[in-house]
Amino acid sequence: MKKKLLVTDLPGSQYEGKRVFVRVDFNVPVNGGEITEDYRIRRTIPTIDYLTRCGARVILASHMGRPKGRRIEHLSMAPVAARLNEFLGTKIHFPGAVVGRKVENTSKRLKNGEVMLLENLRYHNEEQENDADFSKKLASLADIYVNEAFGTSHRAHASTYGMTAHFDKKLAGLMVGNEMKFLSRLIRRPKKPYVVIVGGMKIKDKIGALKNIIKKADKVLIGGGVAYTFLAACGMSVGKCSVENEMLYWARDALNTYKEKILLPVDHVMAEAAGGKKTLAVTSSEILDDMTAFDIGPKTVEKFTSHIKGEGTVFWNGPMGFFELDDFSNGTSAIARSFALATWRGAITVLGGGDSVAALKKSGVKFSEATHVSTGGGACFEFLGGSDLPGISILSDS
Ligand code: ADP
Ligand code: MG
Repeated sequence: MKKKLLVTDLPGSQYEGKRVFVRVDFNVPVNGGEITEDYRIRRTIPTIDYLTRCGARVILASHMGRPKGRRIEHLSMAPVAARLNEFLGTKIHFPGAVVGRKVENTSKRLKNGEVMLLENLRYHNEEQENDADFSKKLASLADIYVNEAFGTSHRAHASTYGMTAHFDKKLAGLMVGNEMKFLSRLIRRPKKPYVVIVGGMKIKDKIGALKNIIKKADKVLIGGGVAYTFLAACGMSVGKCSVENEMLYWARDALNTYKEKILLPVDHVMAEAAGGKKTLAVTSSEILDDMTAFDIGPKTVEKFTSHIKGEGTVFWNGPMGFFELDDFSNGTSAIARSFALATWRGAITVLGGGDSVAALKKSGVKFSEATHVSTGGGACFEFLGGSDLPGISILSDS
């Protein structure tokens, strides 16, 4: 994909007095009207600050949850408007609608440096349907378009795709720019040695990205639930561990092609069931028929961490076990600490995946202990798989 124009690539003077529509990702968890986690809001502040400082009139829009075209009060953006007031130190205009007279009037009355927030875009089915008329209405609010919502960029919706046809200038926000910078390095020329850690549950969901990444990698450490498809592909008995039968052929092929690269677990923490009593770690040849592996064992941790060094690049996707249960979180925590250490020692470290982000947090490792944490989820894997993301490919080339 070509390099895209960043918000900061345009001189500040070009924003003065202009209305700038910024598609953001404020899909934050709200409980009883209170935002319980506002990381997604905080991280858009650099782009908003840049625009307001340049004298732009900023119009922010996002979806939250799945209201399916209806106005559902607990999915309103009102608490987000309040939080933005606090972060930006100015009053945020919140007309309480997505389109219509009130929204148009508010957008016209905005002064330089002022910010308005639209209501939840998915209160209208037209958003996900990429409706032409709805797209046009959104576009009529502004002169310049900015995408600062990487996580929805793989969706061709009205706010990420349809409306952009009405703009000359379509820019990447600073966060989207960062995602593209770090993720495209992983598939172009990652700094060597390039070590990839793969875990989680489903190979099939990420196969495109995995193929691209394994090709480039020097070492691929495979743990988590996906490891059992690989071990089964080697002809081992894997007890009650789930095996993706439709991936066996590919796994066998990958193991043959990249024999020296791929490392599999050598021991496992097993249990009869997720809540059940765990056994001490067993080696791969000792996996019992009636047991499931829920974590990698200590020998595997030792083997894997010996390859996670403070040089080159380390990419990590997928927890090493059922980390949500404390009994099975040791492997993931150990890998998380080793990943953080690699950052401190000078490696470029990139983490991707929704559950992986949660796993990092649970391990007590800070986001700042990774070079880049991709919060893109599905968008991250489509990008790494080499697909053109609609919300990115429509942006102006730099
Ligand atoms: P991400 O969202 O980071 O891409 P995945 O969705 O692929 O990650 O996988 C995350 C899930 O995989 C977690 O819920 C974790 O509990 C589960 N998991 C990983 N290893 C195992 C295992 N051995 N047994 C059961 N669940 C596992
Ligand atoms: Mg997941």
